[in-house]
Formats: sequence, C-alpha cells, structure tokens
Amino acid sequence: MAVQQFKAESKKLLDLMIHSIYTHKEIFLRELISNASDALDKLYFRSLTDTSIPLKKEDYKIHLAVDKELRTITISDNGIGMTEQELENNLGTIAKSGSLDFKRENSGEDIDIIGQFGVGFYSAFMVASKVTVITRPYGSEQAFKWESTGAEGYTITPCQKDSFGTDIILVVKENAEEENYDEFLDEYRLVSIVKKYSDYIRYPITMYREHSRKKEGSEDEYETYTELETLNSMVPLWKRDKKDVSDEEYNNFYKEKFMDFTDPARVISSKTEGSATYNALLFIPGRAPFNYYTRDYEKGLQLYASGVLIMDKCADLLPDYFSFVKGLVDSQDLSLNISREMLQHDNQLKLIRTTLERKIKNELTTMLRNDREKYDEFFKNFGLQLKVGCYEGYGIHKDTLKDLLLFHSAKQNKLVTLAEYVEAMPKAEAAEGEEKAEGSEQKYIYYAAGSSVEQLAKLPAAERVLDKGYDILYLTDDVDEFALQVLREYEGKEFRNISSGEDLGLETEEEKEAAKEQNEQNKDLFEAMKNALGDKVTEVRLSTRLKNHPVCITSEGALSVEMEKVLNSMPNAEKVQSRKILEVNGSHPIFGVLQEMQKNGSEKLGEYANVLYNQALLIEGLPIEDPVAYAQAVCAIMADKA
Ligand code: ADP
Repeated sequence: MAVQQFKAESKKLLDLMIHSIYTHKEIFLRELISNASDALDKLYFRSLTDTSIPLKKEDYKIHLAVDKELRTITISDNGIGMTEQELENNLGTIAKSGSLDFKRENSGEDIDIIGQFGVGFYSAFMVASKVTVITRPYGSEQAFKWESTGAEGYTITPCQKDSFGTDIILVVKENAEEENYDEFLDEYRLVSIVKKYSDYIRYPITMYREHSRKKEGSEDEYETYTELETLNSMVPLWKRDKKDVSDEEYNNFYKEKFMDFTDPARVISSKTEGSATYNALLFIPGRAPFNYYTRDYEKGLQLYASGVLIMDKCADLLPDYFSFVKGLVDSQDLSLNISREMLQHDNQLKLIRTTLERKIKNELTTMLRNDREKYDEFFKNFGLQLKVGCYEGYGIHKDTLKDLLLFHSAKQNKLVTLAEYVEAMPKAEAAEGEEKAEGSEQKYIYYAAGSSVEQLAKLPAAERVLDKGYDILYLTDDVDEFALQVLREYEGKEFRNISSGEDLGLETEEEKEAAKEQNEQNKDLFEAMKNALGDKVTEVRLSTRLKNHPVCITSEGALSVEMEKVLNSMPNAEKVQSRKILEVNGSHPIFGVLQEMQKNGSEKLGEYANVLYNQALLIEGLPIEDPVAYAQAVCAIMADKA
C-alpha cells in the first residue's frame, strides 16, 4: 500500500503541530468535536429535504471514549461521513488555509496561531503519535480508513464500518521529559476540556463515566458502575441570559468561532421579540483581520434558523461600513430551507439588518463616550472603513457615520471628533454694547491633507491658521478629503482646505483690501512668472496665508492638489489635474529680489519662478516633474552668487 505525501501547505501546518511546544494542546479536542458537530449539521440539514434519513433530531450524537491501556481517545459522530475522495481532499490538504496565510504575514507567531485559530484536524497531532479516521459517508456501504503517524504521509484503505459517520482514533503520545500527555487519558480532564470549549455544541457529547455506589443490601461496600452521560449543556451561548455568561466565555466563543486570537473589543448580545424574533450575538473585533482591507475579505454574519446554521456568511445582514462586525443571528421566523435568492428579498431579514445596524451604531457611540481609549484603538483598526462608508454612495450614509469619525487635531495632537473640533472653535466674545470683534470668531473647519502628520505640520499654509488660534484637522488617509467633501459641513460650519485658493476667513476686510492693492501693483511681475510657468499653474499671486515661507501651492475648485495625487495614483485612472496657484509671500526677502528682476527685465526671472514653483511642490509633498533640471537650476543660481 502506497504511502501518500501531504500537500506542501498541509505538511507545514502538520510540522507545526507535531513539534508544537504550545501549552494549550487541549484545544485539539475542541477542534475534533467542532468537526464532528459540523458533520452532524450537514446530515441534519440534508434530512430536512431527504426523508429517507432515519435520524430524529435527538439521535445525532458525538461520543467520546478513552482507553487508558491502549492510550487511545476516540471521537465518534453519526454525521455525514466522508467518501474516499473527500478523505483525500479534506485530510491530505488544508482546504481553508487562512491560518497559514496569516502565519506567512506574521512569521514567528506560531504559538498564537495554534492556540487561537481554528487549526482544525491537524491539531490532533499535537497530542497523538498516530491518527486513524474511519469514515463511512451517508448513503454508501463502503467505509474507508485514513491513517497517519505524521510527517511520513498517510494511507487510505477500504474497511468495514457498521453505520455511517466518522470515528477519529488518536493514539496519545508517551510522556516526554517536560510534556505530560497522560493527562489527556484522564476522564476528568477530558470532561473539563469539553465543558470549557464545547459546552454550547448543539448535539449531545456523551461518554461512559465511572461512578461508585453502595452495593445493594450492604452498609459499607461500594461498587463501581458506568453510565452514559451527556457532558455539555447544549444551550448555545447566544440563547443564554447575558448575565449568566462570563466575559471569558464570550471571548473564547468569539475567538474560536471567528478565528481570531485577540479578544473582541465589544460584545453585543441581544434578544428581540415582536415583528422579528431573533437572538443576535455580535462582536467588534479587537484588531483588523489581516485581509480586512483586501478583496479577499468577506463580510457577513452567520445565520441560524431556530438554532440550525443555514448560512455561514450572510452578507445582507450587514452594511458595508460595518463589515468588520462578526457574529451571528438566530431567527425564529426563517424557514430552514429558504434559498439564498429568497433570503435577499426576505422582509424579516431587512428588518433584522436595520435593527442590528442601529445596535452597532449605539454600541460604537457608547464606546466613544465612555471608553475613549478603546474607541481610539477601534478607530485605528476600522476607522478607514467608516470614512469610506461616509463617502460612498454620494454620502447617503453620512448622517449615520459622521459622529463616529475621528481626525487628527493639529493643536491637541490626538484624534478628535468633528463635534469636539467645533466645540473648541474660538467664539467671538462681544463685550456689551460693542460689535463682535471681527476675525476672532472661527468660521470654518480647517483641514490639510497629505501623507503624514509630520509633513502636514510643516505646511507653510498651516502657520497662519494655527497662529490665529484655530485648529487644523490633519488628514492622512486617501479617502479623508473625499469624505469631508461629501459631508460639506458639520453643524453649519463648512470645511476648508488650508491649501485651497478659497477664502479662509483669516484676514480682516482691510487686510484683504491691502492684498488686492498689492496684487494690482505687482500685476506685471505675476504675469511674467505665470508665463514662465506655462500651464503648470493657472495663476501666480500674492499670498495672504504665508508667514515665514517664500511660496506655496494652493488650488482652486473642488479638486485639491492632494485629491489629484490620490486620484492619479489609482490604477487605470484617467489623469486629472487640479487648478494650481502659486502664491508668493510679499514679506519674504525673495519677493524683493523678484520685483527687482522684473524691473530690470532680467532673463532669470523665469528660472527663479520655476525653482520657486518646484520648491512649493516639494514642501507640499508632491513629485516634481524634472528633478535633474531643478537641481541644475538651483546650482546655477548658487554658482552665480558665489
Ligand atoms: P475545517 O474544519 O476548518 O474545514 P479541518 O482540517 O478541521 O478544517 O477539516 C477539514 C475537513 O475535513 C472539514 O472541512 C470536513 O469536510 C472534513 N471533516 C473533518 N472531520 C470530519 C468529520 N468528523 N466528519 C466529516 N467530515 C469531517
């Protein structure tokens, strides 16, 4: 009989299991019981339409047996079983290698993976030197035996089995120097492992247990007897009263079921009766799944109909902007064999979705108010999704989401909500009988967009706004500015990009008038510079927003310079161009130099204009078209001076 090799990926996971130094090896039992339960689910589900299946609901069972002499643990189920082909596919390869993908990205974290991921069948090799699977698929007479001692590979041979279902037989490893494997042959230990991890499994997990009792007719003589006992309570966690479930139970349930190794940030458990009757148990993960922001990530909640799993990832239960939520819904009103197509149009489901959405929002709002540190952490994980949600669909969800958003405050150097920003805006305090002091009241919500807070803090345009005592929101995610544009305003305050050509409301009427006049006086200079720059800019003008810096780039219209950068970096995007304005600081010494050149008709004015334009781009964090030409121009100017 030929020994077959494991597929490469499986072999890696297997090696990890065999040589595991993980201290919670006990989870192998949870994994095997969970597989058995799945197999029972599959058969039960089939029995709903296939009346030839002879089992009643209470006949579905998982049975444990221990033999200390032979050092074996046997886990049996009368579930759907596996065909020869399925044995080969399921146990020779890992169908779902999410845990391996994860490992690749976080190498060196073996231990957590084993402990917390659903590593499945292979975890048996953490405690077993040999694993035998005897299985007979429902509807077939032929059984097959899969056997493996680990790394060498496995064999599959035909065999006999009285009825359909699967037996998994583990030969428990001998105790090693620092490893106690005997404990897994201990009845009490096994019972406690079952209770710890598998209590809610919907099918009875039975085992013959030894007890002692007084011998009949005797006063002090005892005898032992065995009795078949059900070890688990079988009540699903979500059906239990919230107050009777410990945080640890919720956390363990979450981690096991949704393959995370971090405790959830929040648990939402709710029972709803009325127009829709259902239990929901939702989790806000404590960290973003490694594939969360990729196309591989699938949103959805598990959907149960009266305790039976009918769909693993029901996407219709969650809006995209809450796609990070994990959990399940158990409805009393759904029919068990409802099709996916029908589900989509099911009104019950729509109703459930709406209430869940409200519950999730409430939970997040509560967290924001009462546990800010945790919310900040949450926002680091999933804030991007909320911001995208705000922007999507031309902002149809903006009212749901706007109060959940955080942005980096320049003044406070931490994340703030829009409400907090507005609350902190300086208000004009008009003394009695006086008019409001012009200019001191902040009219707009200021923001700057770029690649990092550090870069934004150095923006020339930021200086004057901050000097006025106004805060600036530093936006560093690509979507940020688009989201704010969709919001347009918050509590009546419009958003203003400090680098936009729009009026920032920073100067008084006199200052504006003076600037206008100065612009007029230097019209020829600015025109000459504009001509030298060609269509790179739409205008060159005097700046009212600069303090110490010589120049800056601003933009006109809805498309900002940063948005241009974002849009143009998208694959296959049609190139867009923002309308840029080069602003020159009238109080900077370079301005005098420029004026002088213009007066003398110097040919170098064009060169200077180009150098200044490129400098403005660099400060803004934007690429310059021709770095070589720029460097040469700068050197030429330096050589000229020397
Ligand atoms: P997972 O359960 O995460 O898919 P496993 O490695 O635990 O991964 O199991 C692989 C597959 O083997 C399962 O998906 C299932 O199809 C099959 N399997 C495992 N145990 C049983 C069982 N007791 N009865 C029927 N099929 C099983």
